[in-house]
Parts: sequence; structure tokens; C-alpha cells
Amino acid sequence: GGDPVKRPMHIGPLVDATVRFAVSGSNVRCSVEVAPDMWAVDADEGQIEQVVHNIVLNAKQAMPRGGQVHVSCGNARLSPGLDMPGAVRQFVRISIRDQGVGIPPEHLERIFDPYFTTKPSGTGLGLAVSHAVIKNHGGLLQAESSIGTGTVFHILLPRSIKRV
Ligand code: ADP
Ligand code: MG
Repeated sequence: GGDPVKRPMHIGPLVDATVRFAVSGSNVRCSVEVAPDMWAVDADEGQIEQVVHNIVLNAKQAMPRGGQVHVSCGNARLSPGLDMPGAVRQFVRISIRDQGVGIPPEHLERIFDPYFTTKPSGTGLGLAVSHAVIKNHGGLLQAESSIGTGTVFHILLPRSIKRV
């Protein structure tokens, strides 16, 4: 929450440390891959850390018997739509994949809604706040899921125009 205080940075090390800390001492293992040529983004470090933490916490909770969280970070070129052929925007993409219970389609469209939770003592705020943070960074937060296979969250952040 709050106005982001952004600076141009390479977020690979921050993502790596946050994921490792979030799974430490649990029955969940992780692998983190960071592309060596990853672009810089304008990020509020504390807010991006919070988003990654929220998503990994959900991944852990989706795998009560343990499992793997696989995280990969790299560059992505996205076209904004068919109305603007040829225009391409440059993003950094952080993908966080779990082997958990998955999310049924009727829930998937509500997971970013404030107070949507399926947990007995959940707040339903983690993903709503995360979605707002990424939107405040000019980015996108997307989820794909299939029951029995798991879930992947993609965080997309615009490439910084500054050199770091
Ligand atoms: P909370 O964790 O407090 O329930 P969140 O906003 O973090 O709130 O998540 C909302 C809901 O989205 C969860 O209750 C759960 O139903 C679903 N969800 C989020 N992440 C996952 C995941 N990795 N696997 C399965 N379900 C998930
Ligand atoms: Mg949560």
C-alpha cells in the first residue's frame, strides 16, 4: 500500500532472496532462475518484495504436503493489441509456479477481488494488494491454473528507460 517510491534496479537478487526466505524452514523447496541479461525496472523494492512474498505464501498454502515452487525471471516483449500492430512494449517477467491444488475457473476470475478467500482464516487481501501494487508500477499481474496440476502467477513490470 501507499505511493510507491521507485528507483531503477535489477530485481533478480531481490526475487531470489524473497523466495528463499519465504520457503525456508518449510516442507516446500524452491528453484529460482534469473536470466543474466534481465532488464532493469523502476521498482519500489519493499512493495515488490511484498508481492513476491504474498504469492509464494499462497503457493506454500496450496501445497500442505510439500512440493516445489519454481520461479523464473526474464525479459518479455509484448504487443499491446491488434489495434497497434508493430508496437511492442518491453517488460520484465517473473513467473512463480506451484504444484498445488489449483484454482477452479469460477474462482480464478475472483482471486484479485478484495476479501475473496477460500481459507478458513484468510483475509483475501494478499492478491488484491499485490494486483494494486503491480498496477501502480504500470505492470500486469496474471494467473493461470489447472486443478491437480498447479498454478502460475506472472508479474510483468515495464522495463526502465534508465541505465543501471
Ligand atoms: P488469502 O490467502 O488470505 O485467502 P489471497 O488474496 O492471497 O487471500 O488469495 C485469495 C484466494 O486465491 C485464496 O483464498 C485461494 O483460494 C486462491 N489462491 C491464491 N493463490 C493460490 C495458489 N497458488 N493456489 C491455489 N489457490 C490460490
Ligand atoms: Mg494469501
